[in-house]
Amino acid sequence: MKRRERTISSRAVKLHVFQPSGRKLWTVVGKDNEHWTDPDLEFCSCKNYYYKTLSNLETCYHLKTVQQAKEKNEFVSITFDDSEYNGFVKALLIDNARKLLDC
Ligand SMILES: [Zn+2]
Repeated sequence: MKRRERTISSRAVKLHVFQPSGRKLWTVVGKDNEHWTDPDLEFCSCKNYYYKTLSNLETCYHLKTVQQAKEKNEFVSITFDDSEYNGFVKALLIDNARKLLDC
């Protein structure tokens, strides 16, 4: 709980909006990594998601954080050009895959 509050107050939730398509991508900056989190799909790229959320044990804290940030409107919104989308997603996935495989 404390950890979650700290995350929000430090503005660690980011909404990346790609224009002109309007595609949206949420990330939560954790202590070691920036995680791709999709509250609509209930997806998160962190380790807890694969080991716990998918087994219905618990929702990872990034998903909870994004849902809370959305409700309170406490997040940073950044606009990108559509041409940056592929590179952005690729970098995010590579980064997260590396973290997953390391552990
Ligand atoms: Zn997560």
